[in-house]
Amino acid sequence: MAKMNANVKQVVIAGGGTAGWLSAAILAADRAAVASADFHITLVESPDIAPIGVGEGTWPSMRATLKRIGVSETDFIRECSASFKQGSKFVGWTHGHSEAYYHPFSLPEGYDEVNLAAAWQAFSEQVSFADAVSAQSTLCEHGLAPKQIATPEYVPVANYGYHLDSAKFSNFLQKHCVEKLGVTHVLANISGINSQANGDIASLSLQSGDRIDGDLFVDCTGFTSLLLGQHYQIPLVSQQDILFNDTALAAQVPYARVDDPIASATLATAQTAGWIWDIGLPHRRGVGYVYSSAHITREKAEQQLREYISTGLGAQHAGALDVRELTINPGYRQKLWHKNCVAIGIAAGFIEPLEASALVLVELSATMLSDQFPVNREAVDILARRFNDRFLTQWQRIVEFLKLHYILTRRSDSDYWRDHCGQGTIPERLQELVILWRHQCPWHQDGRFIDDLFPPASFQYVYYGMGGKTQLAANRSQPKGCDEKAMAEFQNNRRKIEQLLGSLPSNRELINKIMQYGLPKI
Ligand SMILES: Cc1cc2nc3c(=O)[nH]c(=O)nc-3n(C[C@H](O)[C@H](O)[C@H](O)COP(=O)(O)OP(=O)(O)OC[C@H]3O[C@@H](n4cnc5c(N)ncnc54)[C@H](O)[C@@H]3O)c2cc1C
Repeated sequence: MAKMNANVKQVVIAGGGTAGWLSAAILAADRAAVASADFHITLVESPDIAPIGVGEGTWPSMRATLKRIGVSETDFIRECSASFKQGSKFVGWTHGHSEAYYHPFSLPEGYDEVNLAAAWQAFSEQVSFADAVSAQSTLCEHGLAPKQIATPEYVPVANYGYHLDSAKFSNFLQKHCVEKLGVTHVLANISGINSQANGDIASLSLQSGDRIDGDLFVDCTGFTSLLLGQHYQIPLVSQQDILFNDTALAAQVPYARVDDPIASATLATAQTAGWIWDIGLPHRRGVGYVYSSAHITREKAEQQLREYISTGLGAQHAGALDVRELTINPGYRQKLWHKNCVAIGIAAGFIEPLEASALVLVELSATMLSDQFPVNREAVDILARRFNDRFLTQWQRIVEFLKLHYILTRRSDSDYWRDHCGQGTIPERLQELVILWRHQCPWHQDGRFIDDLFPPASFQYVYYGMGGKTQLAANRSQPKGCDEKAMAEFQNNRRKIEQLLGSLPSNRELINKIMQYGLPKI
């Protein structure tokens, strides 16, 4: 029987995909000084079930995470075949042609003090919102890197995250956790889950006959959700009636030439029943079609994917590539933490990777677990309530934000796009926001947490990128001095663009230099 004042010392992580290893790394690095007698982490993963092996786009938060766990950015870039990502470019979402807009990682200039969206309305026909308020969309259009070879590790000139090879990233984290952070790695299939009298998990039984005892269990078993989903029967709250995409076809695409440019943003190109992601790594591209199986057949979807790939690569090469199918059950668990078990990663939930929200959610979840690590069993229940409250809200906000990408479309070329605009498929809070934004620009009041995954600046980029309009209400005037401040920020942005265009190397050039020389250590 668990005593309420018993210390939490043994953490068992089930699953060795990126969620498992990132969680292990964050928890272990934060406790490197006390590891062994007072605290220990064991990670168990199946030798037979491979990690999902996709998930190649991160948020800028990954820089802080990698720094926190004590790895060098140069090593990370070299060993994980990483490149720089500065945001996403959405092609064909409004009209289904080649029109495009950016959601860059940089906040609009002067974001804390002035809402540039309001001042931009006057010349919205001349310049896109992203181009007017940030240099980053222009940097991406030119395939430029977000820093120079002399810029120290993790320091940005323009805000950035990464594109990376997911399988290499798991191996990189594993090596670091085991060799540097004292995490015990067990390769075995979990065959049973043993309970205490109070319903807590006491231990995991392994097929080998061994048993792993623990005080706290982290479920990172991916779609299996072995502990939270299967053992505790916490149901998945499906989001398929809002975000229809339930299947992905993924391919690894070689460059036509070794020195082809590496895109500095994830390309998301709309199709008739979903969208195609295109991620540039140094040695290949990761390309895949996420679609709704209710709106297109697998054959037709694969044909669209191969047609997309054949541009640049040729139909013959595109036709010969292996394509892997993944089934997505879009949704999140009704509770993410139950008893002494918390789920992180796909075991907690998964929704189409439109804004690469999965790994950043892993980082945020593991960081909260580590920062507020429960000292004893009594604290576990308190933290569980706080964790559930915070991350269930995050999930709802992610769903709303992803849906925003669809609902302003003017496409009517397929049922998929028409259905996405169906009133019954749009969360109520999002419907309300869009009504408000017709007469006021998205701004700080539309956010909730200081570290919201998608701050109101993200709403601005997508809302105006998709052609959303704001007719500022006549009874609202900007606070005194705002117009002058806004004009100064627009000018500042234009100067910044000129200066950065002349000083930043291409993404490919910087990656090549990092391979050769490395970045300066901080
Ligand atoms: C098509 C697609 C594209 C994506 N793109 C992005 C992206 O661009 N950006 C992003 O942030 N995320 C993306 N994701 C999500 C991302 O891939 C995952 O969030 C991330 O890889 C974490 O996965 P995971 O570790 O939770 O699960 P997995 O990688 O599936 O790992 C599960 C682990 O559990 C272990 N396991 C399972 N059962 C047992 C058992 N019985 N005993 C022992 N071990 C067991 C397995 O061996 C494995 O180690 C994408 C996902 C998909 C499907």
